[in-house]
Amino acid sequence: MLRFSLLFTLFLAACTVQPVGTYGGYTPGGTPVSTAGAPPRPGLAPPRITKALIPAGRYGRHRMRRMVPRYITIHSTQNYSRQSDARAHAEMLRRGALKGPRNSLGYVTWHFTVDESSIYQSLPETEQGQHADYEGPGNRYSIGIEMCENRGNSRAATMARTARLTAHLMRKYRIPLNRVVPHQHWRMIRYADGRDLGHKNCPHFLLDGGRPGLKWRNFLRMVQSH
Ligand SMILES: [Zn+2]
Repeated sequence: MLRFSLLFTLFLAACTVQPVGTYGGYTPGGTPVSTAGAPPRPGLAPPRITKALIPAGRYGRHRMRRMVPRYITIHSTQNYSRQSDARAHAEMLRRGALKGPRNSLGYVTWHFTVDESSIYQSLPETEQGQHADYEGPGNRYSIGIEMCENRGNSRAATMARTARLTAHLMRKYRIPLNRVVPHQHWRMIRYADGRDLGHKNCPHFLLDGGRPGLKWRNFLRMVQSH
């Protein structure tokens, strides 16, 4: 993974003038490369994922907006009630129960919810969610993963499962490690009135003083270990 991360960092640096969503670029030697249609990389077996998609055309998917994932955004739910595991969150999304003024579509949505023993998927990976920064790049280009914090749930096991899912998605979509970011990375400009809400302290237990530090670097190391 490390070797590919480095390679992709290099090619992303080389193709920053390309239009959004165009994959390809140049090798360090200057040879053009295209990754379109490349076969999946061998190695990591996909983690077990339970699909519980929000119904197409309804609730948080009433406008289904295509996305080429270029980042992975990590969150934590800050929902501490005992029953609020991954399945419960996926159910809320599926029933349209997570309405929120915090986004322009009227619903909060994200792609994956992870707890100590399971992963639930609520949105296709190639569809925009509403979890990071209103109409900003965090929502337009990133896959959102929420880590559960329900009482009784193992944080260590949840982080380990999240790291594995993240590594899997990085390979699948050729996303380099420096594009795996905490929610805090994205500046939140509120859609309704343009107000700058700054950076959220999320996922709070992986940040140091509200910023990425040692804990975040340790999480990235877990991702790299896959
Ligand atoms: Zn968050």
